[in-house]
Order: sequence, then C-alpha cells, then structure tokens
Amino acid sequence: MPLKSVNPATGKLIKEFSEMSKNEVEEIISSADAAFRRWKEYDPEHRCELMKKAGNQLLKEKERYAETITNEMGKPIAQSVAEVEKCAWVCDYYAENAANFLADEIIETDATESYVSFEPLGVILAVMPWNFPFWQVFRFAAPALTAGNGAVLKHASNVSMCALAIEEVFAKAGFPENLFRTLLVASSSVKNIIDNDLIKAATLTGSEFAGSMVASECGGKLKKTVLELGGSDPFIVLNDAELVEAASVGVKARIINNGQSCIAAKRFIVAEEIYDEFMELFIKNMKGLKVGNPMEKDCDLGPIAREDLLAELEMQVKKSTEMGAAILTGGKRLNREGFFMEPTILEGVKKGMPAYEEEIFGPVASVIKIRNVEEAIKIANDTSFGLGASIWTKDIEKAKLLARKIDSGSVFINGMVKSDPRLPFGGIKKSGYGRELSHYGMKEFVNIKTVWIK
Ligand code: NAP
Repeated sequence: MPLKSVNPATGKLIKEFSEMSKNEVEEIISSADAAFRRWKEYDPEHRCELMKKAGNQLLKEKERYAETITNEMGKPIAQSVAEVEKCAWVCDYYAENAANFLADEIIETDATESYVSFEPLGVILAVMPWNFPFWQVFRFAAPALTAGNGAVLKHASNVSMCALAIEEVFAKAGFPENLFRTLLVASSSVKNIIDNDLIKAATLTGSEFAGSMVASECGGKLKKTVLELGGSDPFIVLNDAELVEAASVGVKARIINNGQSCIAAKRFIVAEEIYDEFMELFIKNMKGLKVGNPMEKDCDLGPIAREDLLAELEMQVKKSTEMGAAILTGGKRLNREGFFMEPTILEGVKKGMPAYEEEIFGPVASVIKIRNVEEAIKIANDTSFGLGASIWTKDIEKAKLLARKIDSGSVFINGMVKSDPRLPFGGIKKSGYGRELSHYGMKEFVNIKTVWIK
C-alpha cells in the first residue's frame, strides 16, 4: 500500500510514496549504524557545530518547510513557520549546551577518582506523529544526535513529505551521510525494525495504542523506550482568575494546531462564581475565530488532518450530546471541501461521556462547572492521562500548592501549557514516560557509565 499525502484543506491527493521493502529498510539501518560508529568518535563540540548548522538550514528555508507542513497536515501557515523556527531553537539550544550536559560528572567516593560518563547507545528508532511533524522529530533528534547517536525515523504515513524534508535538513547541514535516515514504511513494519539488533532503543510520540505496541515489542527485546502519548489537559479557572486573559488564552490553548495538540487545553474546569462571566467571554472568542484556508496568514483554525479523524471527532461530540452535554457553539463539520470542524463548546460535560473520558483531538472544548477548589483538583485528576495542566488564579501561593496535587508532567500557572527546550517535557499515567528536552531529555538515550579508579 502506498503512503498517501492528502491536503486536508481540500481533500485532494498531493503525492503517493511507495513503501520501502524489508531489504531496503535493513540496508538503511546498517548504513545508519556504520555512520553512528564514526560519529560517536567526533568531539561533542564538532557535533554541536553541525547541530547549529541544522538550525541555520531550517531558518534558511523556513517558508518552504512550513508550506510542506501546512499542505500535508493543515495547520495555519503562521503556526507552521513558528514550528520550524522552534526547531531551529532546539537545535541551537543543544548546540550550545550539549557539550556541558555530556561532560563527565565527578563523584567523590572511596576511589582515588570516580566519575560518570555519558555515551551514545547507537541507532535509535523514532516513531513520530503528524501533528507537529517537524517539532516532534527535532526535539528528539537534536539531543539524541548531539549525544552521538544515529537515528532512523518512521514518520506518520500522511506526512512523508515532511519526513523527507527533515532528512534533507541534516544532509544539507553537513551531517555524515546516513546518520539520520527516514524510513518510508507503514506501522505494520515497526515490529521488524525493532527486532533488528542494530536498533538500540525507540522513542514514540503518538497515541496510547501505538505507544503500548511499540513498548511491548521493545520490552520483548529489552530495548529502552521513551513514550510521549496523549493528554486530556485540564484548564482550571478559579473564582479569583483574571477572566479576560483566561478566556483569551483558553481559546488559543484549545484551538492551537487546529485543536490537535497533546497539550491542548481540553477540559475547562470553571468555578461556579465566575462561570457566566467567563463563559460569555469564552464563547465570544470561540465564535470570533477565523476558520478556513490554512495557507492564509490570518487563519486561526484550519482543517482536521485526516477525514477519519474528523469522523471520530464528530462521533465523540454526538455521543456526548446524546448523553446530556449541551452544544453552546459549533458542533458539526463545515459544509465545504476539506475536513473542517466548527469551533465547538460543550457544556455540562460529565463522567462517562467521551468528552470527559477520551482525548478530544480537535477544536472542541469540554466545560465542567465546579463548586470549589477540591472539586477542581478531583476532576482534573479524574483522567487516565497526565500530561499538562493549567491553573488560573491571582493567588500564586495557592496555585503552587495546587500544582503539587495535580497528577501531570507539567503545571502552568496563569499561562498555557507549552514545550520549551530548556524545560523537561513528558507525562505520567497513560500520557507516557521518560522526558524530552532540557538536560533530562539528553540523558534518555545515553549509557550513563560509572568509571571507578582505585
Ligand atoms: P498514532 O496513530 O499513534 O501515530 C503515531 C505514530 O505511530 C505514527 O508514525 C504511526 O504510523 C505509528 N503507529 C500507529 N500504530 C502503530 C503500531 N501499532 N505500531 C507501531 N507504530 C504505530 O498517533 P497520531 O494520530 O499520529 O497522533 C496523535 C496522537 O499523538 C494523540 O494521541 C496525541 O496526543 C499524541 N501526541 C503526543 C505528544 C506528546 O508529546 N505527548 C505530542 C504529539 C502528539 P502510521 O501513521 O503509519 O499509522
């Protein structure tokens, strides 16, 4: 079956790619391993210089890369440009900090000298999603490659053009040939790739189902995994919140990336005292969004990335309303070409409804009214996910106490959840394990080696 790139704004096929054969895949992995063996001997400083060049290459052709992203998965072009710029930032960040992060760590013991060194593992498999088709790859690749590893990328089947463009970035930046390679294969080939002895570990960003499949395959082969999975982030608006800002950031946090972000605000947990005032602002902002052609610079909301995902989203809304949720705005797909969903607000969302229990991947906000802070925390934690959370209140000391009570990988107070190369990123519960970014992310795919000298 060919891999198909379809423009979600029009529904039209852009390009088809033949899947690579098992032999081709094996050859690529062998050549990546050969490149790794040379690369790991380079000074970290030299590896950093090349990573800096990768960042420069991204910026040099950012418009072209951004257009590829928008054409294949439909995010508004301004957000695609920002994504490419952020990739350049993560390249720069590791170019500047990797040598420090990788320096030997001296630890006083009974030895005359003892220390820890950080050494690369080999070729790492990256299984990546379509939603941030550049960023997800670069936030893995920048630390993993500067640490001295090689990498093969199995990208989502609908973004092969992005996958090839990323391979091109590293080639144009002057990285050794074959150190970073794209494998154009379907998910059914991932098991064989993991079975290959030259693959030393795997990282997957994607759904809970795909994560558990890759983790169990890797577990059987005793290979390390990092999993960045779904989320159903709470956005808690307490009775002393700055409401105008909360309502504005809340909409942005819900609809970013056409509502298809793991850390999008998904469940709005709003105090009853300020409920009506907040909702008036929130509904007004949702209704004011510019929905349409994602290639237009002022577009706020483009299409859902694939038709099957739009159908699933519509079904989640339908089932939730059948179970008693009320639609305050939106609620259905747009009657036009492409895979567009109206910006939607569901009120009265309750336990058992898909809008409460499942990850809603699209511009649909689930709103839950709460009586007090205890109830807010209880509902925030009443999910199988644990990726990010946002709390809105003017009382920072109270917010810091609440942050400790929330089961998630990050808590943002009076701001939207976002990733930043300087801060660790990842989840708990069914949102995955391991961390990306910062020095924590750099240490995921290294051998943390103890050296002890009598
Ligand atoms: P997905 O369907 O799980 O796909 C992700 C990747 O896994 C794709 O490359 C996919 O390949 C592959 N895959 C799917 N099934 C597999 C299997 N059985 N074995 C091996 N690989 C498999 O997820 P998606 O729809 O692309 O992305 C959306 C999901 O990613 C959401 O749940 C979102 O929350 C999550 N996400 C998490 C983070 C985070 O940092 N925590 C960031 C972004 C997205 P094919 O395309 O060929 O099926």
